[in-house]
Amino acid sequence: MEALLDGLNDAQRSAVTSPASVLQVLAPPGSGKTKTLTARVAYHINHERLQPWNVIVCTFTIKASREMRDRIRGFVGEDIASKLILGTFHSVARRFLFRYGQFIGLPKNFGIADASESLSILKRIIQREKHNVEPSQARGRISGLKSKGISVEQFAATQKKAEQHEFACVYAEYEEYLKEQKLLDFDDMLVRTVELLRKHPVCVSSIQAVLIDEYQDTNNIQYDLMKLMAQSQGRITIVGDPDQSIYSFRSAEIKNLLRMRDDFPSSIAIHLENNYRSSGCIIQAAKAVIEQDDSRPKKPLVATHCAGTLPTLRHLANAHLEAKWVVEEINRTRTLAAGLLNYNDYSILLRSAALSLSIERALGNAGIPYRMVGGKRFFDRAEIKIVLDYLRVINMPDHNEALVRVINLPSRKIGETTIKALLGEADKKKITLWKLILDCAQGKRRPDSKISSSAQNGIDTFVNLIITSRRKLFAEDGEECSIVELISHVLQKISFEAYLKGQYKDSWRDRWANVEELVVQATQLASALTDTEDDALPVVDGIEQREDTAADILSKFLVNVALSTEVEKNEGEELCQVTISTIHAAKGLEWPVTFIPAVYDGSIPHSRAEDHNEERRLLYVGMTRAQALLYLSCPVRESRQQDTVLSKFITDPDTQKLFTLSGPTIGSPAEGCTVLKDIAKILNRECPSVEAIEAARETLEFPEDVQYPLTREAIDGEEPSWNESKVNNEQLEQFPKRRKLEKS
Ligand code: ATP
Ligand code: MG
Repeated sequence: MEALLDGLNDAQRSAVTSPASVLQVLAPPGSGKTKTLTARVAYHINHERLQPWNVIVCTFTIKASREMRDRIRGFVGEDIASKLILGTFHSVARRFLFRYGQFIGLPKNFGIADASESLSILKRIIQREKHNVEPSQARGRISGLKSKGISVEQFAATQKKAEQHEFACVYAEYEEYLKEQKLLDFDDMLVRTVELLRKHPVCVSSIQAVLIDEYQDTNNIQYDLMKLMAQSQGRITIVGDPDQSIYSFRSAEIKNLLRMRDDFPSSIAIHLENNYRSSGCIIQAAKAVIEQDDSRPKKPLVATHCAGTLPTLRHLANAHLEAKWVVEEINRTRTLAAGLLNYNDYSILLRSAALSLSIERALGNAGIPYRMVGGKRFFDRAEIKIVLDYLRVINMPDHNEALVRVINLPSRKIGETTIKALLGEADKKKITLWKLILDCAQGKRRPDSKISSSAQNGIDTFVNLIITSRRKLFAEDGEECSIVELISHVLQKISFEAYLKGQYKDSWRDRWANVEELVVQATQLASALTDTEDDALPVVDGIEQREDTAADILSKFLVNVALSTEVEKNEGEELCQVTISTIHAAKGLEWPVTFIPAVYDGSIPHSRAEDHNEERRLLYVGMTRAQALLYLSCPVRESRQQDTVLSKFITDPDTQKLFTLSGPTIGSPAEGCTVLKDIAKILNRECPSVEAIEAARETLEFPEDVQYPLTREAIDGEEPSWNESKVNNEQLEQFPKRRKLEKS
């Protein structure tokens, strides 16, 4: 077993071995907080003889808890590590409820309704009882009430207004349903555990220690839980960094740091200052960003590694070229590094998931395997799947599956029973569902199935939408429409933005942004694969060469989408992958090379963000994930070709001096050796030999100096290469303008 204190500095050691009953370790990124916390868990067990089943460790994500258990295993062995109570707050709560839930009247075999399940339960209740309440709003309100500990009875007793009364009914029926089905929702898990531990402290009377990582992002109920879990004799250790608090939108309370000092006046704080993760240059640039926040107390952060290479700040003409450049840079550095770097050493961190489409495409085109963390791949996102299903139906209405998925989406009052009956009838008559409903809508036939008049109206509306869209597609009314126009037509007819607003109270804006992104890139996507493949084929005499019609483009588009998701599935298993992640989900993690694209005002700081200091911290979290190479980039025009302004967090000239425009020169063998030696030192890996580096250079197929102009001015002087995109401005006019950037 590894020696516990080896490889720790003095401050870390004193944190690991501190006899304090309440210990706070507040320290900057990469200073070894997680490492220290892990060692302290092992110290509690190996040296203080605490029982592993009496030690609770809370991490922020499931992935983080897995990694932590792996690390602890190295110190205490498999058997003991497996006995720790270690996981996210929710999974720790679940354990208590499984074991002691009967104390508060929970059935032994209760289940969990996750967020999407509880939403669909609410939808069903609201639909069934015809309440005039919006499901996701109800979900949000119930969640808010529960986390304040307000039960349905307490709520109902205080509300007089009719509207409140209706909501109270929904709340009551929802609770009733959960109870009947023996389900708890996510909020219940924490709320009920707090209730359990408050009423029955005996459940935690043997707990000896509670340790919490990423403490700066805990919310009030988690704080209560922490205190309750430690209430008998438990010692508390928290590690965190106020500069990395990025979850205020989920009611994380940075005040909990101060509250802790009030609640535990005897607590001891230990500060760590040395950064062991990143090169000196990366630390300097990250510090320059975070120190712009004047309200923040100054704190030391000292790099322990060599200076390394300056981080890169790059302008590209547009988002498409930006993505292409990121991919070329990955290939270039990986090749020149002669085996020192592999795909899994690279991460691409995004402010919002909607930005992933161009990156995913560029990686896909280059055949580079990648995985998405903290978000679904673009084409797997619910809102995108719906739009694609509509396009599938328009392209081929006999596509039963797609038709069934969208016929009642958004709701047209066509119930599941009606759909089932119609499907059965179509089956019996050996026609497709589309044929059946089309004939009925056109009065050519009466359905055998019993259909309510409201459902029939809904079916007619749907049929009508598909018919008008197909007319547009096949230019039956004259002008042929583009794919952008077609999608815009559908989105408008089904009031998709309003639909998303209604369904997703918290995330509709992001989802709508995804849809906008799909529209903007649809034309390019349509031609993405087929253009180049067509070029490779010989022109055969006798075959008519004609321009693609809109219908051809739509089919190509759908085929290309299908292919790209297929590729993704096949490569899902591969381990050596580039990581794409939101910055939020990258918390606590590190990679040798990190790219942060789209660093412009409106993206980061985000146009909807109220707290720009939190946005700055977010950029800081992103930058401090990088170990050896860091790239920030900014398209001069974003994907809708609106001009951008470089993020205000890096416009300051003194900050910009800490970046280079051109990327790391792994150029000549002499230079290359220095750069690679530094990278190897930082990563604690062996540097490839000079011969290997030279041989790698020989294999490089593209020019080393990437052929894009370096500065904004130079880009502006150029013939804009974004013309290669077939989307033109007129087509874009068809589509609602992206909300103006609110803050700059
Ligand atoms: P974050 O705030 O981003 O979560 P952190 O403070 O939790 O960062 P860790 O992830 O624990 O930092 O450590 C960062 C890196 O530094 C890890 O690779 C870790 O192994 C290494 N490290 C930490 N302490 C030391 C040390 N004393 N000597 C050498 N390497 C160290
Ligand atoms: Mg950490």
